[in-house]
Amino acid sequence: MEHLFKNYLQKNNYIQFDLKAVLFDMDGILYDSMPAHARSWQEAMEEFGLKKTRPEDFYLHEGRPADFTINIFFKKEFHRDATEDEIKKIYAKKSELFAKYNTEGFIKGAKELLYLVKSHGLIPVLVTGSKQPTLLDRLDDNFPNIFTPETMITAFDTKIGKPHPEPFLMGLKKGGNLKPNQALVIENAPLGTESATKAGIFTICVNTGPLDNKILIDAGANIVFQSMPELLDKFPEILKITSSNKNN
Ligand code: CA
Repeated sequence: MEHLFKNYLQKNNYIQFDLKAVLFDMDGILYDSMPAHARSWQEAMEEFGLKKTRPEDFYLHEGRPADFTINIFFKKEFHRDATEDEIKKIYAKKSELFAKYNTEGFIKGAKELLYLVKSHGLIPVLVTGSKQPTLLDRLDDNFPNIFTPETMITAFDTKIGKPHPEPFLMGLKKGGNLKPNQALVIENAPLGTESATKAGIFTICVNTGPLDNKILIDAGANIVFQSMPELLDKFPEILKITSSNKNN
């Protein structure tokens, strides 16, 4: 595992890590919400006449702003963009279905990882494309004393969203004007991984969905784990590597 960290340092011309923060994606990393997202996207699209989508398709677009996602599927099936009205209606339907299907369950091991990160004096920062207005209250109920408005990037903070590096660059800024080698990213999705690696940050993928590891590696993942308990188990070693590793 250590060589992957060394490769990153060499490739990005850093001498060493100087870890200050860990940037966490939310859906599929903290909350086990992706099956409900995928199912509600597929059903909302079908209701509006898009018959060719499968729930699995939405894992590839996870993290993309909703209007972009809707347009991609419209172009594929109807060879045109969706109108503003269509976007509004499909997104409203999707949100309604998501509220029905979401179990509000956690990804096993996520809570432990958040507290492990915090207990090592690192700042946990949330970087999500989510647009829920009550997100902070919910996070604070579920993971008390982890996130504050100063350590959260949501869809309300960004203009472009994943896969553009913008959300993770803002995460570095909110983490304390950090350089990329002062943070790690924990992601599960290809677009989030692309965003994080374009921001220059070492990206740890936890493959909690149905996609092949290869898709995450092709998106730029520096390392892929098959589950959060596996990452939790390896995290002390990662902290050791990133506190001592020199690019030599
Ligand atoms: Ca995610």
